[in-house]
Amino acid sequence: MKIGVLALQGDFEAHSQRLAELGAEPVEMRYASQLRKVQGLILPGGESSTNIILLEREGLWDELLEFAREKPILGTCAGAILLASHVSNPPQPSLAAMDMSVERNAYGRQVDSSIRTIEPEPEFAERTASGSLEAVFIRAPIIRSIGPQAKPLLRDGEEPILVEQGLHLAATFHPELTADTRLHKLFLDKVRST
Ligand code: GLN
Repeated sequence: MKIGVLALQGDFEAHSQRLAELGAEPVEMRYASQLRKVQGLILPGGESSTNIILLEREGLWDELLEFAREKPILGTCAGAILLASHVSNPPQPSLAAMDMSVERNAYGRQVDSSIRTIEPEPEFAERTASGSLEAVFIRAPIIRSIGPQAKPLLRDGEEPILVEQGLHLAATFHPELTADTRLHKLFLDKVRST
């Protein structure tokens, strides 16, 4: 199963490694033509504003909008910001593939990075495996609200940190930076069933 990992900027190599560990074939994506050959796509962490500039420059923006209508995308951190329908702090364009509102860099300077232990929602545990999860946050956004179609699968207190809507998953943390492959596995399950 071929999975694209957007490789214009940011933290894409660790995603490729996690995918390979799970038996999928990662394809580092830099051109629009590569999109047609993959069954799912990961939008990695990095700097979402820089990614937007590069996506437009490479002619990938419109292709991504089309891809999002047909195939699953997992967005992590900056990738989740790209998927959201509304972005603040500051506002910027997005693919709007998921009905949610995100605030960039929402943890502020004092706690701009942290590792937190999360107890999964029952559905996440059922679809993957039970047990707590270490979530790495790096200048992360906070999901401020989600629409009726979006479902939180992981929360940190009240705040959703992993949301599913239709084909897509958005996580505000970096699942590729820990050895826990449950989130990638969940994504591959979605790709397989699409
Ligand atoms: N702060 C970045 C942004 O707003 C996201 C950080 C990350 O992806 N680790 O785009």
